[in-house]
Amino acid sequence: MQALTNRIKHVDRRKMNFLERLYLVAIFKGMLITFSHIFKKRPTINYPEKKRPFSPVFRGLHILNRDEEGRENCTACGLCAVACPAEAITMEAAERQTGEENLYREEKYAAKYEINMLRCIFCGLCEEACPKDAIYLSETFAPADYQRKQFIYKKEELLIPHPIEDPEGYKKALGNKVKKETAN
Ligand code: SF4
Ligand code: SF4
Repeated sequence: MQALTNRIKHVDRRKMNFLERLYLVAIFKGMLITFSHIFKKRPTINYPEKKRPFSPVFRGLHILNRDEEGRENCTACGLCAVACPAEAITMEAAERQTGEENLYREEKYAAKYEINMLRCIFCGLCEEACPKDAIYLSETFAPADYQRKQFIYKKEELLIPHPIEDPEGYKKALGNKVKKETAN
């Protein structure tokens, strides 16, 4: 039979001699390989106590952004949903009422905004399509769960913490976003 690659290895089927049947040499060779690794630098880390630095282009869980006053940026224009190749985003628009100017930046806002994380491929096209800087992909992983319905993230789960009420949480959620914007 013709081999598809040159990586084929033939099995040695000759009879073993007495020394080979004792397996001492083979065990010694195996131990040598094990010991040689003790002094090598470990490629693994003790996650989650230690974390690797994220790549500047890492795309994690989505965040719905607010402005510095804590008002929601999203105007429910639907451009992110149209740009999404996985059809993972759905939303419902609503009109801002008098007295809600401190909650929503513009006259229209997303009363409902959902992302199906089981569909999402973290391509970042929603972030690129958004004209209002209202959505971005953060450095956070989407946490694991046992039920499919838990992977449909609602607006309340996606919204960034309020910058005035929870400045620490807000800064943490912004993460690399500030650095990236300063670099551009
Ligand atoms: S990251 Fe890509 S797949 Fe995920 S919601 Fe945004 S556009 Fe859709
Ligand atoms: S996140 Fe951006 S693109 Fe998507 S609906 Fe809101 S404003 Fe429009």
